[in-house]
Amino acid sequence: MKPCIYDYTLEQLQEWMKENGEPVFRGGQLFDWLYVKRVKSFEDMSNLPKSLREKLDEHYSILTLNEITRFESKDGTVKFLFGLHDSHAIETVIMRHNYGNSICVTTQVGCRIGCTFCASTLGGLKRNLTAGEIVAQVVTAQQMLDATGERVSSIVIMGSGEPFENYDATMTFLRLMIHEKGLNIGQRHITVSTSGIVPSMYKFADENTQINLALSIHAPNDALRSKLMPVNRRFPFEDVMAACRHYIAKTGRRITFEYALIGGVNDRPEHAQELAEVLQGMLCHVNLIPVNHVPERNYVRTPREDIFEFQRVLERGKISVTIRREQGHDIAAACGQLRAKHMESTAR
Ligand code: SF4
Repeated sequence: MKPCIYDYTLEQLQEWMKENGEPVFRGGQLFDWLYVKRVKSFEDMSNLPKSLREKLDEHYSILTLNEITRFESKDGTVKFLFGLHDSHAIETVIMRHNYGNSICVTTQVGCRIGCTFCASTLGGLKRNLTAGEIVAQVVTAQQMLDATGERVSSIVIMGSGEPFENYDATMTFLRLMIHEKGLNIGQRHITVSTSGIVPSMYKFADENTQINLALSIHAPNDALRSKLMPVNRRFPFEDVMAACRHYIAKTGRRITFEYALIGGVNDRPEHAQELAEVLQGMLCHVNLIPVNHVPERNYVRTPREDIFEFQRVLERGKISVTIRREQGHDIAAACGQLRAKHMESTAR
């Protein structure tokens, strides 16, 4: 299989041109065709000499994701199930907001982290995605939006997988997305969400970017977090919080804590009170997510009034908090559920 051209940064493409006896500026032209004009074949790159187009075609592919299904919600949310070359499937979601279009990308096929409320982890980790496979999700979504003159204005890395367990591909993807000569997505409009892979959190803080970090916290203490997220046994609560404080100190940026509310498990006012105490004085924001029902798990949804009470307790503790607006509810599927259904039907 030919390597995917989306795996390479502009600097690497320029280097390739040099090594192949081409002027360096051809790298910039190629980059422009890929990310600004977004063509699907080298043949269409009309300002590159024919011999160069042929050479590129000989060595590389431009990855186009095979759309298995697409669900469109009344609220404009579009969920794609894409097939990969090795018959694995991944999910990508476009969400419409009044401030622009946001895309949620996947970084791994499946996930080994094992969060007990998540469908993505049910079959374990199959493999990491390449940088090109992550890039292709955004380019494909942008190609769809091109038809209506819209653009992807923000990215959240919150689809299936733990991005910090696929660190290098994730960072290459991010560098490609923020490049001013490419899609030029504002760094502050990108969020990477982690379950708390401590060494990578330190590494990320030291990358010197303005990209946002979100931590899936989901519990206010070590014991409960270990029950909900086995990864907490590998990287204990205290160490994760220390890594969060390092990120804030190093970047001066606010960190977001994602808190999935699970009925009767972590959604009581005393949990909110404990969380407020843990987060006291931190530059942070809490995003409450009423958990989606995962049929394989025995979790129930937190009643609306309890969600509001949880929010009020945090607010009284002077913690900035919002409840995540649910999108695409009518087309089913929280993260991982579309793929889980697909796996089930192909196994039959
Ligand atoms: S929530 Fe994220 S990290 Fe946890 S199992 Fe699901 S995909 Fe993996």
